[in-house]
Amino acid sequence: MTRPGARSEAQPPGPSSSLGDAHDWVSRTADEVMARVDRQSPGKVIVCASGISPSGPIHLGNLREMMVPHFVADEIRRRGRECRHILSWDDYDRLRKVPAGVPTGFEEHVGRPLSSVPDPWGAYANWAERFKAPLREALAALGVEIIEISQTQMYTSGAYTAQITTAIEERRRIDSILSRYRTKKPGGEAGADRVAESPDGSDDDSGGEGGDYLPYKAYCANCGRDTTDPTGYDPARKRVDYACRSCGHRGGVDIEADNHGKLVWKVDWPMRWAYEGVDFEPAGVDHATPGSSFTVGTQLVNEIFGSEPPFYFGYSFVGIKGMAKMSSSSGGVPIPSDALEVLEAPILRWLYVRRRPNQSFTIDLGAEVVRLYDEWDRLGSRVSANTAHPGDLLTHSRSTRTSLGRLRQPETVVPFRMLSSVVDVTAGDDDQIARLLRTMGVLSGDLSAVEPRLSLARNWINEYVPEQDRTHVREEPDVETLRALTGEDRGCLDLLLERMADDWTLEGLTRLVYGVPKLMHGLDLDDPPDAATRASQKRFFRLLYTLLTSSERGPRLPTLLMALGQDRTRSLLTTP
Ligand SMILES: [Zn+2]
Repeated sequence: MTRPGARSEAQPPGPSSSLGDAHDWVSRTADEVMARVDRQSPGKVIVCASGISPSGPIHLGNLREMMVPHFVADEIRRRGRECRHILSWDDYDRLRKVPAGVPTGFEEHVGRPLSSVPDPWGAYANWAERFKAPLREALAALGVEIIEISQTQMYTSGAYTAQITTAIEERRRIDSILSRYRTKKPGGEAGADRVAESPDGSDDDSGGEGGDYLPYKAYCANCGRDTTDPTGYDPARKRVDYACRSCGHRGGVDIEADNHGKLVWKVDWPMRWAYEGVDFEPAGVDHATPGSSFTVGTQLVNEIFGSEPPFYFGYSFVGIKGMAKMSSSSGGVPIPSDALEVLEAPILRWLYVRRRPNQSFTIDLGAEVVRLYDEWDRLGSRVSANTAHPGDLLTHSRSTRTSLGRLRQPETVVPFRMLSSVVDVTAGDDDQIARLLRTMGVLSGDLSAVEPRLSLARNWINEYVPEQDRTHVREEPDVETLRALTGEDRGCLDLLLERMADDWTLEGLTRLVYGVPKLMHGLDLDDPPDAATRASQKRFFRLLYTLLTSSERGPRLPTLLMALGQDRTRSLLTTP
């Protein structure tokens, strides 16, 4: 659950005993979950659970809520055991507040279920659906096989009627269990510090002083808000009466006939463990408290719903670094589908599977993307060459395939660094890109062989690389700089122009641009550079960038020269 209030009860299983032992956190968690199920209810279909409230954009960091159970469920399926991975959409939670950027007039919907609030921009059936849609798409692209459960659908269809009745009838026992964990503030306000923990912002488990505690909140039949206070419960008719603070309406909910209300969060969660038979459900550790929802839920599921709590551990925070997508519509924080516009799905899976859940990490969609691709490609090469460590082999396998099959990867792996440079210097022109990649010897067929990576590189250049960092090739030679060249600068440039036609290939040009300063220092093209030569190389590269792009840096020079072609390069480096 991505919910506040869940405490880390157990740590994810620790590091394996021997280095290279291909038994990662996923295998160890699957071992634990399967052993528990076999002990408690042999033969049961195993259930791993995730839960998300679609109250606003579901950020990339929240993806861990889905990925941790996914990898475990996938491992269980790989072992030939049936496993359901459920995603509970908390779309029956109240709208707590209206986020910035939403058109005015939405304040009146605060307190109504997320599934009853309209989509502010009109494209989806309701507020919840707007924020579900991109996550649903991202999960499909990531190969996450998941069964969606709408809490609105469950509550309003009467699926939980028996559980709600039990909870209401056992309200005094529930109140007493909750009170074990309530802390009294100096002012004597029971449960006040719990309120902040409730994900839907309702005053969950407060109250209970006068024995009229009710773990159920009705949505007002008149105004639709949850601003209702219970005024009585009739056990014979199973009817909760209430008065609405917003509109003054006084009404009642017949639990067995209509279902306009929900259990408070701390009771709702364990009720669902019991209802769905959840065996594994991790949760974020960021709101760990002693009286957390998990601790309390463990008691409630045993004592009220007669079931066992799931295996549980807390997972750590995933941070997001680097600049946000320029055309972001999610308040500047990337959502999973933004990441999938830049990262191949297996790479995004890899980020989540290679770290143990108790390790926090950061995803950077800015400049780091290039290094991340390099790292991923090196792993891929080791796997292909059969030189990967067993642990790396396992994370690579978990990243690239699921029990359903393999995820899409490029047929021809061209470094992201090269593709993004090529996109950059060609301003994204397909014909030029294809010609250039063929000249560079990295493409033989058509561009589909380098997809999806080419499109991702294109998106990255357009959405994440600031305008001032993109390459703008000069239209005309920089006459002023060219005329002012003297000494070594002049010599290096002349040598380059003299020799560049000799071997107009990526390798040839690489050798030459690094080699020209060596020749000036009396070395051979293939000699290792000394310190003075290295300084000259830097100076020479800067000069070339200035003359070609009016900038001091840019894509790798051999790539840039190849992209420009011999004629254009020569004309920009020669005084007219
Ligand atoms: Zn009302």
